[in-house]
Amino acid sequence: MKTLDNFINGRFVASTSGRFGPVFDPASGEQTAQVGLSSAAQVGEAVEAARAALPGWAGMRPLKRGRILERFRILLEDHQEDIARLICREHGKMFDDAMGEVARGIENVEYVCGIPELLKGDYSREVGPHIDSYTLRQPLGVCAGITPFNFPAMVPMWMYPSAIACGNTFVLKPSERDPSASLLAMELAREAGIPDGVLNLVNGDKEAVDALLTHPDVAAVSFVGSTPIARYIYATAAAHGKRAQALGGAKNHMVIMPDADMDKAVDALMGAAFGSAGERCMAISIAVPVGEGTAEELRRRLIPRIKALKVGPWTDRNNEMGPLVSAQHLERVRGYIARGIEEGAELVVDGRGLKVPGHESGYFIGGSLFDHVEPEMSIWQDEIFGPVLGMARVADFEAAVALIHAHSFANGTAIFTRDGDTAREFADRIEVGMVGINVPIPVPVAFHSFGGWKDSLFGAHAIYGPDSIHYYTRLKTVTERWPTGIRSGAAFNFGGTGDH
Ligand code: NAD
Repeated sequence: MKTLDNFINGRFVASTSGRFGPVFDPASGEQTAQVGLSSAAQVGEAVEAARAALPGWAGMRPLKRGRILERFRILLEDHQEDIARLICREHGKMFDDAMGEVARGIENVEYVCGIPELLKGDYSREVGPHIDSYTLRQPLGVCAGITPFNFPAMVPMWMYPSAIACGNTFVLKPSERDPSASLLAMELAREAGIPDGVLNLVNGDKEAVDALLTHPDVAAVSFVGSTPIARYIYATAAAHGKRAQALGGAKNHMVIMPDADMDKAVDALMGAAFGSAGERCMAISIAVPVGEGTAEELRRRLIPRIKALKVGPWTDRNNEMGPLVSAQHLERVRGYIARGIEEGAELVVDGRGLKVPGHESGYFIGGSLFDHVEPEMSIWQDEIFGPVLGMARVADFEAAVALIHAHSFANGTAIFTRDGDTAREFADRIEVGMVGINVPIPVPVAFHSFGGWKDSLFGAHAIYGPDSIHYYTRLKTVTERWPTGIRSGAAFNFGGTGDH
C-alpha cells in the first residue's frame, strides 16, 4: 500500500513514529493509501528546517521572492488537473468542482506575486524638524498552518503563499484524510525554486498539531477547521505566546424575499446547499423564505430538483454530487436526519435511501430537505456539513435578521431580492462576516480577505488577501533625523522632537 510521507527541507521523508492513518477513496469505500502520523520529534525537525531557512529567505529581495512565486503559480496552473484528480480521489468531490477549488487556490499565489507592492509602507516627512517617519512590515519567523479536509488544496493556499511571500518560512499540517493534493504542491514549490526548508509539510493528527502549537520557534499559527478545534487552537497558541487566527464552522442562512427572482434563487440554493455534498464552510444549510407564499413556492420548486440530483462518483462527469468524505461522517449526517425527525421538523425529501449501483460501499447519501426547522432544533443549531437543507419559515425581513443573529456561527449569509433598499439594509445590519446579495456563496476573491464573525473566526485578522499581509508581518515604525549635525539640545518633555 502506498505510504504518504512528510516533506521536510526540500525532501520527502518517511514518518518515523510508526503510527499511520488510513486514506480512503470515498466513492468506493476502499483504503487507497496510508499516511504517516508524525511524532512531536519529527515536527521539530520540520520547524528546525524552517528556522534554518529563515535568514536567507527573509533576506531575499521581495521582488525575487515574487518572481519565484510566479514560477510556482505557472507550475500549479500546468498541473491543475493533476491536483484536481488527487482531490477527487481522496475527498470525493466532482472534477469540475475540484478544478474550481484549485483555481481559487492559485489566485492566492497570483495575488502575492506582487509582494513588493503589498509590503510598501507609509512615509511621513517632517514629523518634527528634520525628522521623518516610515513603516516597515517585517516577517514573523516560522509560521504554521493546520487545515481541514474539505478544500485540501485551496485552504492551505489561503495560508502559505502569503506567509512565505512576506518572508516567513512555513510548516503545513494538512488534513490526514486527503493530504496528496498538498504534497504535490510541495513538489511543485521545489521545482519552482522555493528554497529547501522554506515550505515544509508534516502529516499527522493531534500529536503533530500540539507540537506546532507549543514549539518555541513557531511564531504564528493559522487554522481552518471545526469550531471546537478552532477554539482550542486559538487558546493554546495564544497561551504559548504565538500570533493566532483560527477559522471555525458555519451555519449559513439564505433569505429569500417575496420579490426575489425564484428561478435564480432555486438554482442558487441547489448549488450552494448540495455542491460538494454540502461539505463547504460557505454552503447554505438553511433557506429562510419570507412569507408563507414564498415558502410554499420554494418548497414546491425544490422538491423535484433535490430528487433529481445526480449523485455518484467523480469519474462520471455527468454527476452533480459525490459521496461524503468518510464512513463516520456519513453516519453522523444520517444521525442528524434521524434527529431532525425526532425534533419535529418535517422531512420532505429523504436522501438516506440512495444507492449508487457499483458503488455500494461508497459513502453516498442523496440530498435531503427539511421544512419547518425551528431554532431549538439541533439541525438548526449544529453544522451538519452534509447535503441536508433546512427551511426555516419567517414572517418578515425583521424575523429573518433576528433568526440569523440568534445563531452562534456567523461565517456567510445571503439574501435574494430585487429591492435595493432591502439589500442595502441587510448588508449594513447583518452581523455576519461575508454577505451575498443575489450571490449564494460569497467567498471573497483573492484580493479581498475571507473571514466570518462570532464563533466562525477567532482572532483579529481574516485570512488571505490584504489582511494576510498584516497577519504575516510585524509592523515596525522608524522615526529618523537627518542630518545628524542639526543641533536640537536635550528635550526632557514628552513629545520632544522640537516644535510641538
Ligand atoms: P477538523 O476541525 O476536524 O480538523 C481540522 C484540522 O484540525 C485537521 O488538520 C485535523 O487533523 C486537526 N485536528 C482535528 N482534531 C484535532 C484535535 N483534537 N487537536 C488538534 N488538532 C486537531 O475539521 P474537518 O472535519 O477537517 O473540516 C470540516 C470543518 O472545517 C467544518 O466545521 C467546516 O465548517 C470547517 N471549515 C471552515 C472554513 C472557514 O473558512 N471558516 C473553511 C473550511 C472548513
